[in-house]
This record gives sequence, C-alpha cells and structure tokens, in this order.
Amino acid sequence: MLLTHLIDFSKREYGEYPFLYFENQVYTNLDVEKYAKKVSVMLRDLGMTDGERIVVSIPNCPEVIYSYQGILRSRSIVIPVLHLLHASEIHYILNDSKAKAVFTSSHILPKFLEAAKGLSYTPLFIVVDEIDDPSLLFQHEMLLLHETLDSVDESNEIIKDAEENDVAVILYTSGTTGRPKGVMLTHKNLYSNTKTTYDLAMEKGPLNRKTTLGVLPLAHAFGFTMMNSNILSGNSVVIFSKFDVEQIFESIEKHKVSSFAAVPAMIHAMVASPHAENYDLSSLESVACGSASLPIALIDAFKIKFNAEIREGYGLSEATTIVTTSRNGMPVKYGSVGVPIPGVQVRIVDEHGGDVPRGEIGELLVKGDNVTPGYYGLVEETKSTIREGWLYTGDLVRMDEDGYLYIVDRKKDLVIRGGLNIYPRDVEEVLVKHEAVSEVAVVGLPDEKMGEEIVAYVVKKTGFEVTSEEIILFSQEKLAKYKTPKQVYFVQQLPRNGVGKILKKKLRDMHVEKHD
Ligand code: ATP
Repeated sequence: MLLTHLIDFSKREYGEYPFLYFENQVYTNLDVEKYAKKVSVMLRDLGMTDGERIVVSIPNCPEVIYSYQGILRSRSIVIPVLHLLHASEIHYILNDSKAKAVFTSSHILPKFLEAAKGLSYTPLFIVVDEIDDPSLLFQHEMLLLHETLDSVDESNEIIKDAEENDVAVILYTSGTTGRPKGVMLTHKNLYSNTKTTYDLAMEKGPLNRKTTLGVLPLAHAFGFTMMNSNILSGNSVVIFSKFDVEQIFESIEKHKVSSFAAVPAMIHAMVASPHAENYDLSSLESVACGSASLPIALIDAFKIKFNAEIREGYGLSEATTIVTTSRNGMPVKYGSVGVPIPGVQVRIVDEHGGDVPRGEIGELLVKGDNVTPGYYGLVEETKSTIREGWLYTGDLVRMDEDGYLYIVDRKKDLVIRGGLNIYPRDVEEVLVKHEAVSEVAVVGLPDEKMGEEIVAYVVKKTGFEVTSEEIILFSQEKLAKYKTPKQVYFVQQLPRNGVGKILKKKLRDMHVEKHD
C-alpha cells in the first residue's frame, strides 16, 4: 500500500463533500483529485516522473495540496520548501537537490529567481497565480499553472505504482542546529505515519466530516502529515496562508472546530491575544501541539483561557514526524509528550549506547516503518544517524513508569558548566513563570572559567518592567545556584524559524559576533 492508494479520493463516498476552505473558495474532495491528476499528467508531459525532484514553495493554499498529490501520483519526489526561507537557503536546497521544477507563487518568485543564480542548471518555474510582469515568462523557463492545467485532460493519467522504498518526499530539516539536511521519506514512511495518525484519531470515534484547521505550514513535516491524515479521515480543513490569531478564532466559531494541530508559537499567540473574548470558542476541546517545547505555564494558561486541553506530541522529520502523542483515553500528563505511537519502537540510551534504567535521562532512539532511509546525498551523516535501523534523534528524554516520554532537551543544547549538566529547558520553565517574562530562551555560552555559562534571552511582557538582576534573583529562589543565569539580555523578539522554533544556534552566534 502506498500513500497515494491510501488517500485515493475516488474511493471515498464523500467525493462531493467540501474538503478545503480557503479564503472564499471551496474545493470538494473530487476537485482536489481532479487537479492532482491534472498536475500528474502535466508533469509526465514535461518529462518529469520517476524520481525527478520538484520543489513546492508557496504559502498554504489549495495549489500546494494538489501539487503535492499530483507530484506523488507522477512518481516524482516532492520537496516542500518553506516560502519564508532566505534566497541563500533556497539556493542551498536547489543546488543540493537539483530540483528540475519549482511550483511557486508570483510574490515568492523573485526570491527564487535570485536563489537560482549561479546554479549549474535551470529549473522550470511553475507559477500558481497571475504574474504582474508577463515579460518574466520570456526571460526564464516558466509556465503558468492554471493556464497549463486548463488544457490538460486528467483522464490521460498514466497510473504507475511506486515501490514501497521509492523516495516520495525530501524534507529539508529547518537547520535549527546546523545546515539543513534533506531527509528522504519513502512511500512506506508516509503511508505508515499517515495511517497510524489516522488510526489514533479514530480511537476517539469516527471523525469523518468534521471541520478542522490547517494552520501549520504545509511545507513543514508536521503540517504535511496532519494534512494527509485529514484527507484520510474525510475531514474538511480550513487553510490559511499565514497564521493570524483572529482568523483562527473566527474559523473556530464559524465551523465549530473541536480540535486542530499547532506549534507552541501559535499557542503563545492565542493565549496572549486580547481578541479571544469576542468569539464563541466553546466548541474547542483540544489542540495537538508539537515541534518544540511548550512551557507548562503556557499549557496552564491555555487551559484556563480556552477551557481546552493541550495534547502534546513529539516528532522529527527523520521519523516522518510523529513518534509520540497523548493518546485518547489515556490521561494527559503535563510536560510529557505522550507515549510512542503503535508500530514505533523506542529506546533510551547513554553515551555508550546502553539502555538507561527507566526514569533516567538518555538519548532517544526510534525504529519503525516511519524512519527515513537517510539524508539525500549524505552518506556519512546517514551512517552516524541511523545505526542498525535505530534513528539517533539527538534528543535527550526520560520515560516514566507509565511509559510517558518527557523531552528534556536537545543534546546539542545541553550546557556543561563546571562539569555539571544543565538542561536549558529546566531553567526556561522557571524563568517564564516570572510575571514580566513573555518568552525566554536559555543557552550556554563559552566561559573561560566554567567552560560554559548560562545566559538567558528574555522578551518582556508589554507594560511590564524588570531588570536582569531581578530575573537572576528570581531564578536563584527557585533553582540550584549553578543552574541560574549569569547574564540576562532583553530582546524585542527571539530568532525563530518559519514554524516558530527558537533558533538557539543563532542566539549563540549572535553573542560570539557581538564579542568578537
Ligand atoms: P535541524 O535538525 O536542522 O536542527 P529541526 O530539528 O528543527 O531541524 P525538525 O525535524 O523540524 O527539524 O524538528 C525535530 C525536532 O524538534 C526534534 O528533534 C526535537 O528536538 C524538537 N521537538 C519536536 N517536538 C517537540 C516537543 N514536543 N517538545 C520539545 N521538542 C520537540
């Protein structure tokens, strides 16, 4: 079974049922299927099939969804690229993947044209909307998607099955810890994660024909998996080109949304927004959240404000996203990311690869059909990350007596001060409780005496004043002295990637630059 079989719209009894709401457009399941087939035929006509790499970089819109499906149907490989990336980052991905075509939109196009400079080949740009400057069409390899699809007959689609181990997607990691790596995901990987996510959702009872929100960028592994699972569930999805908290509230009220998936930055925005009270949000029961750590104080604030549960999960691109979730029917334990999903094995090991006793901290290893065969073109990185079928996640975790997993921190973010291990997340959990602190990121910076020192970057809450000494004092009341920050810097905002993850590497680099 392949993902394309699994989400074969034509086998669904609710073909005419709305699948996507976007701005004032509504697409039924059959509409999406028709356009996906057209894209598949178009790509075959262009000679792009069987393992050809194709970038899709567009803010969320229906075109992203049917382009993904069409590329998979044509047996080419989808490379989702977050449209917010810088031209130099895009250049890196194009150069690494040698993607033959790029689906993009007119306002992202100039960045791609810039990114394509200096490449050893010329990609074909497929623009999904109108372009203001038609002369561009003659200066570059370019075509307009809708105009082309109009003359494509979807009944000409050649159905050719992929093998389980054929690569379906290459997901470039967000590069929060280093340079992006292209994680190859096979049809089997996609199938396994989508099917398991769907089965878990069904534990709650049939979900069909519920409306949910697609607020996660479809270019991110989490957004991509959740969308596949929604297609399979027969849910309708309201998608947004960008995260706007008021639009979210409006849609929850309008569509009586009971649950959706989000990342911590979105939870933070919902909690901080003064607009919630203008809407009836009583239908909201739970939000699935993952991709970065979520302070417990924020979970509590969310629960109080929305009377809804946060169900944390954990995953990574290398495991086609989802590894653990808070299961329906099992109590939610705050601070935990739930339990491993069915079909996925985990181990927690020390630095010598031996299993640590239950409750102790070690690196998480993952095995299962969802684990990538490796990084595109990176043999050595693949060998060191996947050993004997076990994916070394680089995440430090512990498991409690009930099998619930707790993410302690990333191995790369661990601070060793004077020989003692400090997990920045422990310090962040304390600092964020200060009444004047809106957000905080703790990092270890080089220190001659101690090896590393703890430094906190703090975003103040609007209307609050606080000094760094006060924050340090506050932390000393609640933490062992060696864990407390030596310096506190106030910043307007924390550097984040396109899905709102804090870029700790950037914070560390910023500091080095400042002091060079
Ligand atoms: P790069 O590998 O280039 O740094 P990235 O790690 O951000 O990029 P992703 O695959 O998007 O790439 O993110 C996976 C990582 O996100 C996990 O390894 C883990 O560190 C973190 N993560 C995911 N879910 C959670 C969670 N619920 N709590 C804390 N961290 C999480």
